[in-house]
Amino acid sequence: MYIGIVGLGLIGGSLAIDLRQQGHRVLGVSRRAETCQQAIDQGIVDEASTDLGLMATAQVVFLCTPLAAMATTVDQLLPHLSPATILTDVGSVKALVVDWIAPRWSNFVGGHPMAGKAESGLDVAEAGLFVDRAYVLTPIETTPAAAVETVAALAQSLQCRVYYCQPETHDRAVAWISHLPVMVSASLIAACAQEPDLTVLTLAQKLASSGFRDTSRVGGGTPELGIMMARYNQAALLKTLSSYRQQLDQIIQEIEQNNWVALEQRLSFTQAERTKYEF
Ligand code: NAP
Repeated sequence: MYIGIVGLGLIGGSLAIDLRQQGHRVLGVSRRAETCQQAIDQGIVDEASTDLGLMATAQVVFLCTPLAAMATTVDQLLPHLSPATILTDVGSVKALVVDWIAPRWSNFVGGHPMAGKAESGLDVAEAGLFVDRAYVLTPIETTPAAAVETVAALAQSLQCRVYYCQPETHDRAVAWISHLPVMVSASLIAACAQEPDLTVLTLAQKLASSGFRDTSRVGGGTPELGIMMARYNQAALLKTLSSYRQQLDQIIQEIEQNNWVALEQRLSFTQAERTKYEF
């Protein structure tokens, strides 16, 4: 199959590596000529160009640019595609992307491979990034079944677990497990930084161990990632944040009132609830 990848970064590059290894012919388009050259030199793609015209022969195109670049990229890309070309994207937020692309290209399937790293760019792309990870597809009523089947088969060939849902359902789910944790973790780091006694703060920084490392990890990432989540998944994220604030208020109340029974019930509930997550 001729596969097009637009945006040769972490996700686009990693897809290209795996799909080329499977024998597909991989055509890559990226913004910078150096990235295209690097992708060719490292054998990540068969051909690469900064010109979207390279996508003319692709049967399936994966749109792998940052979310902010997707709308403009799609406008520039569509005139080059043959009508049978299946277009899919890998964006971490789905409703906005699907709302934008589906009316413009009927053969479009929204997608989100749930794999990643803190770093970005082609340098950190790697083989096998998607193995055993979830790959969410968000077809809507008008999405052709054959297009969904083709993208699902490609995702399965990467050894992903494929899930299907509405774009809005995806965004609400990732708000809970991906976007809210970033804001909670960032708030934890910011709250610690408010400690007025420098001796206490310095000691806390020296004593910090695995618990703080785990809970502060996602809040200590690049600001761009958090801004992307807040900007493109604003409504869903705000709902989860408000629910989280309610939980914090209840915990404060229980501790203020020495209500250890209620606190014990709460922590027993969360201990059991955590086992339901398929990490
Ligand atoms: P990334 O490593 O920064 O890769 C994006 C690449 O797109 C850049 O390396 C850049 O390449 C290229 N690019 C930027 N603007 C472009 C444009 N206008 N036209 C063509 N290429 C352009 O980012 P990523 O982490 O792979 O994320 C890409 C997409 O995957 C995003 O939509 C994100 O939501 C989604 N996603 C990310 C993760 C994650 O954990 N990172 C996980 C799942 C999905 P050059 O400038 O070097 O040419």
